[in-house]
Amino acid sequence: MKYPKKTIKCGIRGFKYTRWKAFSRVIAMNTPCLMKCIPVVVLILLVGCKTETKKEVPLLSYEEVHDEAILVDTHNDILLHTMEKGLVFDGDLHGQTHTDLRRLREGGVDVNFFSIWCDGSEETPFDFAMAEMDSLALVLERNPDKIVLAPDTRTLEKVVEDGKIAAIYGIEGGHMIEDDLEKLTRLYERGARYMTLTWNNSTAWASSAADETSDGETAHMGLTDFGKQVVQRMNTLGMMVDVSHIGEQTFWDVIRTTSKPVIASHSSVHAICPHPRNLKDEQIKAIAKNGGVVQLNFYTAFLDPDFGQKTEDFMRRHQAEKDSLEQSGMHVYLVEEYLFQKYQEETDAMRPPLSLLMDHMDHIVQLVGPDYVGLGSDFDGITSAPQGLDDVTSFPLITQAMLENGYAVEDIHKILGGNLLRVLKANEPDPRGD
Ligand SMILES: [Zn+2]
Repeated sequence: MKYPKKTIKCGIRGFKYTRWKAFSRVIAMNTPCLMKCIPVVVLILLVGCKTETKKEVPLLSYEEVHDEAILVDTHNDILLHTMEKGLVFDGDLHGQTHTDLRRLREGGVDVNFFSIWCDGSEETPFDFAMAEMDSLALVLERNPDKIVLAPDTRTLEKVVEDGKIAAIYGIEGGHMIEDDLEKLTRLYERGARYMTLTWNNSTAWASSAADETSDGETAHMGLTDFGKQVVQRMNTLGMMVDVSHIGEQTFWDVIRTTSKPVIASHSSVHAICPHPRNLKDEQIKAIAKNGGVVQLNFYTAFLDPDFGQKTEDFMRRHQAEKDSLEQSGMHVYLVEEYLFQKYQEETDAMRPPLSLLMDHMDHIVQLVGPDYVGLGSDFDGITSAPQGLDDVTSFPLITQAMLENGYAVEDIHKILGGNLLRVLKANEPDPRGD
């Protein structure tokens, strides 16, 4: 079995977490009647533990904790993969991608943000975004019993309660609105609930991290007046402002402009891995103060400061093949993916342990507390992740690691999805129309 069960010392293991939680809440709320309850508590413990007389706190398996949590992944790139390669997301893509419908369910993913992405060279990025959304809409039509578009928290809660996956779109790159607020509104109406203001390319109104930190010329730094209007329109619509990919100057302009909590849909910690895509401690503190959340990216390049050098060395070893593939017309991203898969033994040795991802999580928790961190895997947009994180079925390993690191179950639930859902709800327009 892929995820071996942890040993449960006490026979209470069959006592589901929710029931336990409800049970402990009742005790906490009814202290005066506790004396009356004691015989019942003792009886339950005796029945549960059979021969064990020692009073023990029930240990939950990580699978139980994982099952009970609402798991939200804010960044999954499978749609472009399926479009480009002619794959079927509701078919079996094991061995070809990180994600398919069956494996999402196996990994316990309850809410999946499907990234809508094209790079800055696309001539009609808005139309491309619409086509990408169409590709998921067809999957939803074929599988209404398994996955449903659920862009608001009320629908989402119902969908998850019914045991289905809630699907939401996330726009990765402000260039897809083509400098037009009406197009932003149309993306919202289709079910987009966040937009990264830039991808690696800057827009005419926001500078990216890549451009702000390179020597190249950038037309402007930070948000222009129109950029501020974009942020304000997103606030009004109820679309979360995503600060992943934007430069620091844009970031601070966003923090000064937004009236709602922001997210970083797929970024990690700069203090551990000083990559321009990661967030510095001051930024993480600002996001916490704003009530937002940082969703950790699993990409090794954003976790391990040595990975850049390791990748360069790897590419140098396969330089002739790389050049040949590029000359044959293969896109540079696909060349890396192809070579990483072909020489898997070498690239597997370059993967850090899962504990490195947990170090990023610990850093944020120690800096600002457990309310401001979550998960944005970037699966199907990355060529390398920590050991064990092979695809979307691997999420329970993170729950296991959190339990082993001593995280409280309540905090684990927040990190797996509760924090993001809090921010999504805070962004939703007030139903009273205020
Ligand atoms: Zn990205």
